[in-house]
Amino acid sequence: MKNTLLLVLSAITLTACNASTEEIKNQQVENENPILQEWDTPFGLPPFDKIKSEDYLPAYKTAIAEHKAEIDAIIKNEEAPTFTNTIEALEFAGNNLTKVSSLFSCLEAANTDDVLKATNKELAPILSSHYDNIMLNEDLFKKIKSVYDEKEALNLKPIEAYLLEEKYKNFTRSGINLNKEDKKTLKEINGKLASLTLQYGDNLLDETNAFEYHTNDSSDLGNLPSSLRELAMQEAKNRGNETGWSFTVQRPSINPFLQNSPNRAARKLLYNAYAQRANNDNDKDNKKLIKEIVALRIDKAKLLGYKNHAERILANNMAEKPEAVLEFMDKMWPFALAKAKEEKAAMNKIYKADGNEGDIKGYDWRYYVEKVRKERYNFNEEETRPYFEVTAVTKGVFELANKLFGMSFEKRTDLPTWHPEQKVYEVKNRDGSHCGILYLDFFARDSKRGGAWMNSIRKQSNVNGMIHPIVTTNFNYPAPTSNSPSLLSYREAETLFHEFGHAIHGLLSDVKYRSLSGTAVPRDFVEFPSQVMENWMGEPEVLQLFAKHYETGEVIPAELIKKLKDANSFNGGFGTTEYMAAAYLDLYWHTLEAPTELGVNEFEAQKLTELGLIDVIQPRYRSTYFSHIFSGGYSAGYYSYQWSEVLDADCFQAFKETGNLFDATVAKKYQEMMSKGGSEKGMKLYTDFRGQEPDIKWLLEKKGFKN
Ligand SMILES: [Zn+2]
Repeated sequence: MKNTLLLVLSAITLTACNASTEEIKNQQVENENPILQEWDTPFGLPPFDKIKSEDYLPAYKTAIAEHKAEIDAIIKNEEAPTFTNTIEALEFAGNNLTKVSSLFSCLEAANTDDVLKATNKELAPILSSHYDNIMLNEDLFKKIKSVYDEKEALNLKPIEAYLLEEKYKNFTRSGINLNKEDKKTLKEINGKLASLTLQYGDNLLDETNAFEYHTNDSSDLGNLPSSLRELAMQEAKNRGNETGWSFTVQRPSINPFLQNSPNRAARKLLYNAYAQRANNDNDKDNKKLIKEIVALRIDKAKLLGYKNHAERILANNMAEKPEAVLEFMDKMWPFALAKAKEEKAAMNKIYKADGNEGDIKGYDWRYYVEKVRKERYNFNEEETRPYFEVTAVTKGVFELANKLFGMSFEKRTDLPTWHPEQKVYEVKNRDGSHCGILYLDFFARDSKRGGAWMNSIRKQSNVNGMIHPIVTTNFNYPAPTSNSPSLLSYREAETLFHEFGHAIHGLLSDVKYRSLSGTAVPRDFVEFPSQVMENWMGEPEVLQLFAKHYETGEVIPAELIKKLKDANSFNGGFGTTEYMAAAYLDLYWHTLEAPTELGVNEFEAQKLTELGLIDVIQPRYRSTYFSHIFSGGYSAGYYSYQWSEVLDADCFQAFKETGNLFDATVAKKYQEMMSKGGSEKGMKLYTDFRGQEPDIKWLLEKKGFKN
């Protein structure tokens, strides 16, 4: 329904001007291209079986031309600018472009191929210049400013006023007030940055996929559980080996190997390969790109009137200034580092008792963590995997959403998917009405980028009737094998709760405008709804709901949970330290006010030494494989996870204070906060929920850091 309307709209726009050959051609593409046609499927899901990778580029080109025509129509409108004919018209323009780009970015990340990669590369500069042409268009801005200057007299509803404010700020932040010369420079910088950051990501993916450690010696595997042995055997076969096991530098492969393999030389080889990705002085090296990206970001910040990139980015966030972030991080850091040092000392004791000289190295850390856990807590992480079979954990998150928000999830096997392994659910509200569609794509494969994430194929909006959200969550879990289902580690299971929290944020959205809906919140707020879900998973009454042995059905024993928690808290210093080191590194690069003379490795080493990081711990991401900040959207924002942790610890405390983790009143307030998406300021949303600002003490307490 929605798409028919759009086609009609754009057809009018096109006939309103003199249709050029280019436009007629675009019209034909639109008629034939399955991406641009109305999706005549249940719930308007993308017809994946009809869409070919080759369809995206022409669809994009048509959609960009349409968007341009719609913007031109706003500018050429001879009536006086109003909220409706300017601000709303801008919000509603480019529907087809949103449609194609939302779908494309989901697919390009989760199930890419050479055509999609090439499309992405070709499009990056085109899109960047398209948006620059809009954001730096003075005639358009004049109209927006004229509405903005009149805002007091317009009697706007709160969400309309917020939309106006956001649109206006987007333009001023993008450099609309620059002179002609500077605008041209800014466009050039944006174009270069788009290509460089893309190249960075491609290099990293290639370097990650290229590495293989193959062994025929089963003693290399140590205590590796059978499900992961089989996966390594499958990996070996996929890579053309007839026998043996292969390990890669993808986290689901390397981490269990580092935890379990007694072969120190092999651990060292894998650890170093991981830590050296895109840092090998070959054609996939990212060092030169980093220097270029950092320098361009400094230029851009200065052009727009900021001291540095971090200051520019943070102006949009809850934290507002880099100093506020550093102050908060400096409060946490000494506790984390001290705890990590204690952990190292405990491991050294065992290491020396094993007859070794000196100290443990980075490639020993995970291996000795397991030893301490076994010795001190008699805990072996592998004991817990059978209780976290992936479908059981999925059931757990569904039950949690049901208890808190009354949501229910109905598995559908009749709906289109982008990969046979993808699962799809219809989500319903408490009253049984349709809420949205949820896709789950669990297993690691070459066509999927690393990590776990959520994104939206279609965001919620409600202008001429409710457009329901379609969200996807993506993971890199070990795939099931012929002998074993996919059994997750505790952390991996927690990741499912995390991404599901993002999904809920998208699904519960109930706002008018798409650009303010769901997860469209500041970077340092967006991880809060996801991280808060992890709190529930650790609670015995939640574990009892789903953590059942995949063979016997037995609920995870209380004693094992206790051991797991004690054992997990043992490595908490390491977890916080490696994360924070990366967050600091991000800020070190992005608070630079002039490019550094130092090489990438030298800069990194100098800064981390100053910070006091011990050399047995690497930052979770080193510069050459820190795709969050050099190819994703997290530059000067990697701290956000911890900032959001302050919110999530404080929010969970609100439930705990009632004595009921599923308290209906708090849950209802939480749902209200989620339903508002990004239609109000983050701190306002939070204080409306909690009645006060969040207190850091609950995070310190949760981490066992005494204040
Ligand atoms: Zn997240």
